[in-house]
Amino acid sequence: MNKTVAALALTTLALTGCGEETKKQQLIVGTNATFPPFEYVGGESGTEILGFDIDIAKQIAADAGKELVIKDMKFDSLIVALNAGKIDMVAAGMTITPERQQNADFSKPYYEATQYVITQQGVSFSSSEQLKGKKIAVQLGTTGDTIAQELTSDVASFNSGFEAVMELSNGKVDAVLFDAAPAKNLIAGKPQLQGALLEFNPEFYGFAVAKGNSEMLAQINATLDKMQADGSYNALLTKHIK
Ligand code: GLN
Repeated sequence: MNKTVAALALTTLALTGCGEETKKQQLIVGTNATFPPFEYVGGESGTEILGFDIDIAKQIAADAGKELVIKDMKFDSLIVALNAGKIDMVAAGMTITPERQQNADFSKPYYEATQYVITQQGVSFSSSEQLKGKKIAVQLGTTGDTIAQELTSDVASFNSGFEAVMELSNGKVDAVLFDAAPAKNLIAGKPQLQGALLEFNPEFYGFAVAKGNSEMLAQINATLDKMQADGSYNALLTKHIK
């Protein structure tokens, strides 16, 4: 009897220990997998989350000795999830902005981007000035959304760039504002659409962590430094983007 109790106690101890251990060893990364080539759903199963950011996140997890867990959520919920402790890090092609820096800490910039304007074939805008007052579709909560709001009161926002592009294809808006690399990806194979780089400012992507999580931030930056020094960062650029 005593033996059974002791055995049970031991098992419970082992299980509890194991549970905590598992939790400690996970790196929970939030993303919005509608942003190819940075993060998207695909692979053999068609349900894998892949992309440039995901490959970097894999390396960050490996270097930290943790198991990578990806949580796919709406782009505009990512910083909220971070602050609620639901995720440890955001890897979502997220531009470092002063507004976001009030609610999260960012890694070193790891990618330079800019906005791209998608229109119907034959319709072109040669400056942002010409977009003033137009109907513009964007992804909710993105920098494209913010810029569009400054240009017009007629902004249609969606949970993905894909839906914004559908709106344009359906003739409901004049243009879509979206980050250049994903925008090019979205219009590939759609000859009825065209895109242009106007004079929008450069934007820099960073990985976000909860404010004050300097340990995680140091780990992310160390992995980024290492990947830039050993060529694996460039290899990922070639694999996914260039
Ligand atoms: N870089 C843009 C932003 O931070 C878009 C990111 C995204 O849609 N995943 O707002």
